[in-house]
Amino acid sequence: MNTLKEVDPEIHQLIAQEEIRQRDSIRLIPSENYASRAVLEATGSVLTNKYSEGYPGKRYYEGQEFIDQVERLARNRVKALFGVDYVNVQPYSGSPANQAVYLALCQPGDPVMGMALPFGGHLTHGWNVNFSGILYKSVQYGVNRETERIDFDEIRSLAHEVKPRLIFAGTTAYPRVLEFDRFAEVAREVGAYLVADIAHICGLVVGGVHPSPVPHADVITSTTHKTFRGPRGGMVMCREEHKRAISRAVFPGLQGGPHNHTSAAIAVAAHEAAQPAFQQYAQQIVKNARALAHALQEEGFRLVSGGTDNHLILLDLTPLGVPGRPAAQALNRAAIVTNCNSIPFDPRKPFDPSGVRIGTPAITSRGMKEPEMKRIAAWFGTVVKHMDDEDLIQRTRSEIAEFLKDFPAPGLEHV
Ligand SMILES: *Cc1c(COP(=O)(O)O)cnc(C)c1O
Repeated sequence: MNTLKEVDPEIHQLIAQEEIRQRDSIRLIPSENYASRAVLEATGSVLTNKYSEGYPGKRYYEGQEFIDQVERLARNRVKALFGVDYVNVQPYSGSPANQAVYLALCQPGDPVMGMALPFGGHLTHGWNVNFSGILYKSVQYGVNRETERIDFDEIRSLAHEVKPRLIFAGTTAYPRVLEFDRFAEVAREVGAYLVADIAHICGLVVGGVHPSPVPHADVITSTTHKTFRGPRGGMVMCREEHKRAISRAVFPGLQGGPHNHTSAAIAVAAHEAAQPAFQQYAQQIVKNARALAHALQEEGFRLVSGGTDNHLILLDLTPLGVPGRPAAQALNRAAIVTNCNSIPFDPRKPFDPSGVRIGTPAITSRGMKEPEMKRIAAWFGTVVKHMDDEDLIQRTRSEIAEFLKDFPAPGLEHV
């Protein structure tokens, strides 16, 4: 009696059901992906049993012969991918990675700047209910009402007024290129640190399809489980000058023992991302997003900012006369999984907004290309336009299950 199935059939069953859900649905949530079998194996390994407070070569407990090598491999592989001086792979996820940056570079009460949540910023970029908005004097920027793009005139005048200690550049719902060089210009003018949060676009940067923040940012944070296709985790990268402050902020400033199983899986993901196939993957994510955006526009959806440069599309459903939440719920019943999302200057409430946010990282991991984007857009449009036709939704669901058989998902081989 020792397998999960034997020990805890309830959890085993729920995991199996979730695996089938991931297999049989078109997963369009842009922050999600399919980690490889290799990444999952490392994540589920005995490394979870080991305590290793500290850093390689400087630990508080004995028995680190192999753990030190794991963490060094993870760091060195990520360092090589990005060309940075220092990498810390210990943050438990993206939010703690950002928390460590505040702790390293700011004092409580310092002015900080980031993008407001309703415009596509992250909670940790100074939103009022988050520690970042509670402990620091947060001033938030948005996008331009006409272009729906980041407005550097607005950012510049705010920054000169506020004199922030740091400026966060990073987004969760922004379909356009982040111009880190322009952010850096503003940061330099006012003596602020530039923090690039590449949680969403990490894999695109590694794949060379989004400009790298490395020449421009003082510190870079990321998750490892979005376009990077690794385990759930976070990391911080920086120049030599901030190495000490960042490493002390992560440990002992914020965390205890690192999640060594996650460090190992980050090393595996970095190894996978160094292969030529990953560059093709990143390129295809962007091509697919363009194709999907175009096809959805033909279906009558409005694209926020008029299109996409990256992996993400923000749809305004207003022209179809349908709010975001019921649309996302109907799509989910048809096995197309998205999330409803505010659009810039949304007249509707955040819990029932005008938009739906989608992206192509997960479906591209299944080997889908432009022709598949057309089919997905057609199903997507039909469901949103016939939200109350449950027969049609169930028929669509069956068609999608059949369609997905040709696109096996990484990591799910055993269902
Ligand atoms: C996802 C995300 C995070 C937070 O990551 P968690 O792992 O969910 O804590 C931080 N910043 C940005 C821009 C993100 O998209």
